[in-house]
Amino acid sequence: MFKLNIFNFARFLSLIFLLNFVCLPVKSSSALAAWSLKSNGVLELRTRKNSKLKAYYQKANQLYGDRFWIDFNGELQNPRIIKGNGPVKEIRLGKPFNGMTRLVIEFGPQKSINPYQLKLIAVDENKWKIKLTTFPINSFKTIKEGSVSKAPPSSMKRREYGSLRDIKSRIEDLPNIRRNKYSVVIDPGHGGYDSGAVGIDGLKEADVVLEVSRIVTKLLLEKGVNVKMTRNKEIDLDLSPRVALANKLNSDIFVSIHANASRGKKRYINGIETFYYSGWRGKLLAEKIQKEILKVSPGSPDRGVRRGRYFVIKKTNMPAVLTEIGFITGRLDARRLEKKIHRRRVAFAIAKGILEYLKRIG
Ligand SMILES: [Zn+2]
Repeated sequence: MFKLNIFNFARFLSLIFLLNFVCLPVKSSSALAAWSLKSNGVLELRTRKNSKLKAYYQKANQLYGDRFWIDFNGELQNPRIIKGNGPVKEIRLGKPFNGMTRLVIEFGPQKSINPYQLKLIAVDENKWKIKLTTFPINSFKTIKEGSVSKAPPSSMKRREYGSLRDIKSRIEDLPNIRRNKYSVVIDPGHGGYDSGAVGIDGLKEADVVLEVSRIVTKLLLEKGVNVKMTRNKEIDLDLSPRVALANKLNSDIFVSIHANASRGKKRYINGIETFYYSGWRGKLLAEKIQKEILKVSPGSPDRGVRRGRYFVIKKTNMPAVLTEIGFITGRLDARRLEKKIHRRRVAFAIAKGILEYLKRIG
């Protein structure tokens, strides 16, 4: 039935924004909770958190009109076809493979969509949006199932976000290392006059990273690591004293914590990235930290671990990394970074990455 034209398939697959999430067990029920195709041509989705979505497009052929579909984890209970109206022929919910759910929107012969403009945006941890097309005014009546705006039940919310107490109680979940053996310098980026990047609703990089750094420090201290922060206040601190502190202490590692901003403050740009300057140790540390931050930032793209020539990681004598914990100019990341609880989760992730690294290096 889905005899895909391989050329189109591969071509459009790479064009469409693919968001890779933590996979759910195959046996679980459908991750798609609600959907709505609005009269303005926007498809909105509500899914389970940590869902994995893949979007596809195929141009019309003799059998079908233009089709756009999204695959979700989890098996659909009752496959169904919903009759469309106006330029939309029909909407199908199916189960292409065991353990999957597929939402297909098929357009009528008079409507073609431009795949180059399709962009699936994660609006929140469980909400998605994609502008499929522009319908002529009054030509299409919204079709939906369920409520795309419904908030997750509060019990679920609590479990997802956790409280500070939860995080403290989870200190036991962090890897154990030899106490009093290691020393770490944590460097909260910017500070004072230098607020760093300024994001949505005036969110300041310097404030966000200071709070995260303080929690990382607390967690590491609890685990018996000797930790020094380059700044523990909102002060303006040049780059060289940061490096000098780490070199003087001869710490085992140096971790600089930053938040990103995109040029032109593009709200659709989100993601996590971690830089190291050289050596396998620096790379390993960057990888451990990157992996853990991604785990607590579902939907935020993995921009990878890369070499970077930033002053603080270049001039320090020990394995050193600079991590960007999200875009304060990005809709998805900023919404999280403004929340204390997310800052705690990121701090927990960074501490975990550091401890795993120390444990491995021994
Ligand atoms: Zn920065």
